[in-house]
Amino acid sequence: MDSVSQRPDLRPNRVAVLSVHTSPLAQPGTGDAGGMNVYVLQTALQLARRGTEVEIFTRATASNLPPVQEAGPGVLVRNVVAGPFEGLDKHDLPTQLCPFTAEVLRQEARHLPGYYDLVHSHYWLSGQVGWLARDRWRVPLVHTAHTLAAVKNAALADGDCPEPLTREIGEKQVIAEADRLVANTADEARQLVELYGAEPERIDVVPPGADLTRYQPGDKAEARAALGLAADEQVVAFVGRIQPLKAPDVLVRAAAEVLHTDPTHKLRVLIVGGPSGTGLERPDALIELAAALGIADRVTFMPPQPPDRLVLVYRAADLVAVPSYNESFGLVAIEAQASGTPVLAADVGGLGTAVRHGESGLLVPGHRTPDWAGALSYLLDDPERLRRMSGRAVEHAANFSWEHTADGLLASYSAALTDFRAERAGLGAGRITGGSNALRADVREWVPGERTNLEPNQARSRALWRRRMGARR
Ligand code: UDP
Repeated sequence: MDSVSQRPDLRPNRVAVLSVHTSPLAQPGTGDAGGMNVYVLQTALQLARRGTEVEIFTRATASNLPPVQEAGPGVLVRNVVAGPFEGLDKHDLPTQLCPFTAEVLRQEARHLPGYYDLVHSHYWLSGQVGWLARDRWRVPLVHTAHTLAAVKNAALADGDCPEPLTREIGEKQVIAEADRLVANTADEARQLVELYGAEPERIDVVPPGADLTRYQPGDKAEARAALGLAADEQVVAFVGRIQPLKAPDVLVRAAAEVLHTDPTHKLRVLIVGGPSGTGLERPDALIELAAALGIADRVTFMPPQPPDRLVLVYRAADLVAVPSYNESFGLVAIEAQASGTPVLAADVGGLGTAVRHGESGLLVPGHRTPDWAGALSYLLDDPERLRRMSGRAVEHAANFSWEHTADGLLASYSAALTDFRAERAGLGAGRITGGSNALRADVREWVPGERTNLEPNQARSRALWRRRMGARR
């Protein structure tokens, strides 16, 4: 077998990707399905194209799902039965982590030892599973948080529910256990260090991307005709999961102010997506808000759209608004720009990276209605400026592709495998039992308390290893 240890860049042959709470095959834009689903699927497809097979484990949410589905060449999705298929709230999922983990471990046990070279967990729930799999299989764990409770809670929308403390505790555990952490932006890396005590040298900043072959500029009139939108209106679109955190109400309020100031304005707000998270408690809240503000006839709602329709939404819009209270990156912002549409975004989190302020769109500090109404008018009232921004938006989005993201992940995997091997070579694996893999040849038994002759660059590994061992006692 061509093992990772024989490859100079330690590229894994096969990665177990964990996405417990949401399937990469689910339609994003409603419920728990959003950017993370797109990220997991697109990076898996790209990794497979580069010769690294991917098996994605996710919790089955329907009884008619087959145990395994092929998502593309070299990418399998394993639908793990753990708990009821439907109706399980995300906050109740921790109760199902044990059966989920058991099924993941059983799946691996059906193969020869060394089947997976690495585990990559997405979101903290998967991290909890990944750390056990890592110990059992003797492979490194790479973890991507996607969102962090401490960051979300620090920027809550008015009246929104905070993330529970149990999540923050779980995140801290996973961040301490993971061999490497992948952050979307330098800002997120800083949050991992400052709020969660992560070691900076274990973090890789890998920006997400967009499918640049799909999201490309196209004919606006054709797109509007296909979607049934009027040709002579100015369309501002919101695309994503409808919940207070994503703040589509900020756009609706700003639009109402623009329309109240100038009732002849040809503004139309297009909301694409379905209720999600705390938005599920009041699924009609946005419809009611538009009615209360007297602009119900200027707001169009569309259910979540698949990518081949979503590109038409981006092309049809003059502007895409991303008013979120928090956004670890904001894939919609990149997809819109790639399709030639400037973005008006809140100046939070990864949106500062996703949008080039004044060039490919505008970043608005805060969420005050007058500021958002002012920014809307500033952009919509100058079509020439919008046209210039459209060109720059395409240029800016070209920096973000899933190919680039997959290359970054492979570099992170390589670092994880290298460090893991060094740690094990220097310190042995006396405390860990279980399967074996290609790295095992480098391992010798470690007697607790034994003094080991470590190279200087292994000193950190040793401290880290000890800390982990101590943490488990
Ligand atoms: N999306 C979609 N159809 C929809 C709405 C959204 O496919 O109707 C996808 C969109 O293409 C994007 C993702 O959902 O890739 C949303 O990602 P983003 O990072 O903007 O937000 P998140 O859901 O992660 O908060």
